Amino acid sequence: MSALETPRVEARGNVGPIDSSLVPRYAGPATFARLPRRDEVPSADVVIAGVPFDTGVSFRPGARFAPAHVRESSRLLRPYHPALDASPFELVQVADAGDLAVNPFDIPAAIDAIQAGAAELTSDGARLLTIGGDHTIALPLLRNVAAQHGPVALIHFDAHLDTWDTYFGAEYTHGTPFRRAVEEGILDTEALSHVGTRGPLYGKKDLEDDRRFGFGILTSADVYHQGVTEVVQRLRERVGDRPVYVSIDIDVLDPAHAPGTGTPEAGGMTSRELLEILRGFAGLNLVGADVVEVAPAYDHAEITGISASHVAYDLVTLLALQAGGADGANQNGATQ
Ligand code: MN
Ligand code: MN
Repeated sequence: MSALETPRVEARGNVGPIDSSLVPRYAGPATFARLPRRDEVPSADVVIAGVPFDTGVSFRPGARFAPAHVRESSRLLRPYHPALDASPFELVQVADAGDLAVNPFDIPAAIDAIQAGAAELTSDGARLLTIGGDHTIALPLLRNVAAQHGPVALIHFDAHLDTWDTYFGAEYTHGTPFRRAVEEGILDTEALSHVGTRGPLYGKKDLEDDRRFGFGILTSADVYHQGVTEVVQRLRERVGDRPVYVSIDIDVLDPAHAPGTGTPEAGGMTSRELLEILRGFAGLNLVGADVVEVAPAYDHAEITGISASHVAYDLVTLLALQAGGADGANQNGATQ
């Protein structure tokens, strides 16, 4: 093997990760799961993109460094998903499009740029998984999926509601994206769920407002008391066959499983619970997803990065199963 070559696993006409039997996992530059860059393949069915933006945070900053951290923490991900009996990188073409370079000083400009970037990356029908960034970025990502599918169902994993109105007079922050989305009519208000909420609020009105917008809540305590199977069943019933977007604030996990985040709250879900709930979503019409609020400066031993990379891997697998269709056919015909 030449030092100039990058040997990759290729199967079913799809270009997969760097071959770890030939190049150790810790060698070379990090893309998500060592997948090819988007510009190294002619087209892709599932695209991963980073949004290094954290100007919308209200407490600890640092999520702008998350895309690089999650990619670095994703080097050990392997190509076969036993729990879902799927090989996502064989099923369809998956590629890493790098980061959307957005303005760190102008939140509305950044929101517009994220929407435009997402539109470009999905213009050929590709499904997008985004690694934030703070939760502000969910609004333009939802605008993009709504432009393509109409108002979508939402399953939102978070310690927090993120349906606050304004903070210091600012309408667009990481605490407001889902209120703005409801106001804009881009969410299907019959099918909105928060999962994993907990911790003190400013007042009961936060919950009353949230209910008025149409959200149902399965708190972190509900997940504990009802169990994963019941939670999955309730979420699936609420979503039905609607197009659904999944947004995961990594602070939905307990700080023991995700210390590296901006607004940590005690009493959160385990990474096992979160991954098991996601595996219960197989077959839902998942049209896009994000993993946000990883703040690497507060991480230790890549604990948060590993949680986020595995959550992202499960989302990529669900997107690949959807993009591949029931028979596993490559939807875009990119490499046939
Ligand atoms: Mn949160
Ligand atoms: Mn959030």
